[in-house]
Amino acid sequence: MPSGDFVVRFWGVRGSIACSGPRTVRYGGNTSSLELRCGERLLLFDAGSGVRYLGNTLAGGAALDADLFFTHTHFDHVCGLPFFRPFFDPRNRWRLWAGHLAEGITLRRVVGEFMMSPLFPVPPQVFRARMEYREFIPGETLRAGPEVTVRTTALNHPDGATGYRVDYAGRSVCYLTDTEHVPGAPDRNILGLIAGADLVVYDCMYTDAEYDSYVGWGHSTWQEGVRLCRAAGAKRLAVFHHDPEHDDDMLDGIAREIAQVLPGSVVARDGLVLEP
Ligand SMILES: [Zn+2]
Ligand SMILES: [Zn+2]
Repeated sequence: MPSGDFVVRFWGVRGSIACSGPRTVRYGGNTSSLELRCGERLLLFDAGSGVRYLGNTLAGGAALDADLFFTHTHFDHVCGLPFFRPFFDPRNRWRLWAGHLAEGITLRRVVGEFMMSPLFPVPPQVFRARMEYREFIPGETLRAGPEVTVRTTALNHPDGATGYRVDYAGRSVCYLTDTEHVPGAPDRNILGLIAGADLVVYDCMYTDAEYDSYVGWGHSTWQEGVRLCRAAGAKRLAVFHHDPEHDDDMLDGIAREIAQVLPGSVVARDGLVLEP
């Protein structure tokens, strides 16, 4: 169990839609949600179905002053929002960030339209925490406390998405999902962001062999993740945003391969804790 004060915890690792059943028990079926602890600071990335479980561990604890960064607002990355208990605690203060929205569209509006009758029974006004919605332009550097730097870049995804790099205490974690690569032309935005990073969490929805059938769907492959890490001198890859059709046995196979080609790399699963 990691003992340091810079820790990543995976609460949801699936792409597209949550999935349960005997074929996904070991890697888990919740959609994207990541917790970062930088000393006293709490940073969340995406609010897929997995974020509910994190919320349950935080509910009733100390008051929170925290940031939630969205890669984007596709359903699998926001569906956990209304079920996140810390939003219902008036002692808490939350800043929600998005960098992918077209000009004139605010994050407040997107959340309001997602939690709207008849798609959802109650609006975001039911949240009792102090909620702040903030937009930024990809490429901006954000701050989450005096010692935590959050760099951003635009990703290649339908409706846009934002990649993040968090630097704290001389270490770094990158979170890059959802994004599609162009075969043979490594993404310069990503190479710049992940240069020398200690840990890269990357959209590995497909394998290279599968990719030909999904060109234009907005996702990448674990092999491209390896190529990017090697080219940028990043140390470890966490395979993330698994296709719901990729069962435990298949992910075991990827885990074996990736451990050989980029030692220290892993396939993310619900509950996994890593130190950058
Ligand atoms: Zn997604
Ligand atoms: Zn998406």
